[in-house]
Amino acid sequence: MTESFDALARLVAAGDVVVLSGAGLSTESGIPDYRGPSGVARRHTPMTYQAFTRDPDARRRYWARSHLGWRLIARAEPNAGHRAVARLQHAGQVTGVITQNVDGLHTAAGSRGVIELHGRLDEVTCLDCGNLTSREEVDRRLREANPGFDAHVAAVNPDGDVDLPDEAVARFRTVDCGICGTGMLKPDVVFFGETVPAARVADCFALVERARLLLVLGSSLTVMSGRRFVIRAAKLGIPVAIVNQGRTRGDAHATLAVDAPLGELLPALADVTAGPVRPALAEPAAV
Ligand SMILES: [Zn+2]
Repeated sequence: MTESFDALARLVAAGDVVVLSGAGLSTESGIPDYRGPSGVARRHTPMTYQAFTRDPDARRRYWARSHLGWRLIARAEPNAGHRAVARLQHAGQVTGVITQNVDGLHTAAGSRGVIELHGRLDEVTCLDCGNLTSREEVDRRLREANPGFDAHVAAVNPDGDVDLPDEAVARFRTVDCGICGTGMLKPDVVFFGETVPAARVADCFALVERARLLLVLGSSLTVMSGRRFVIRAAKLGIPVAIVNQGRTRGDAHATLAVDAPLGELLPALADVTAGPVRPALAEPAAV
């Protein structure tokens, strides 16, 4: 561990680091990683774009679960790992952050220019008129449409999905777009069966191609959506370092793979490579 930590520190200290983060970075913020070391399999088949847009029952089930899951996501706060990434960015070692997470926690921790590969759960788009609404606003309207909908939140998946009995789902009322009045609303995240917008992918490739190190944090790289950047870096001879609990599907391309808790490793890494915590990024002082 010490040896690999030192090797990682040397790579990061050299700068031009692009971070690619996944669900494992947000587990310490209380957002479970369904593919992580606990081995807990996801209970629900992930919602596909096709099912969401074509099947009103599937859509109702998604919104009912997501309505409850959102409360936990909205309450989540960045952890020591997110803050360490922000420190490394402000200190100059990290030049770009790409995340597969939809929780907005990198930005909340102070990172800038984060590319959110799979979108953000705190925005909702109308599939008809294209209007973008805050999730907060949609949440308010959903609460109004569903008074007393207080089913027990048993478990939350990273996309805000929860366990919910069928009868509760059947009673749930979805809402339509508040601008065009009839449009179908969808969280502005990339569903399974949907492709990441091409311009966003191109931005990621451009970032990765300029990097001196691609640093993967908390992703098992199961989906090609993120793994392709690792493959591209390896092909160009750009070193890839992976910090994750458990093996990943990118290990074969990695120069260095470290199995360690991110909330401990990243602050230590920032301490040795980014120098002292700058006041702007320290815990808010009491006034
Ligand atoms: Zn609309």
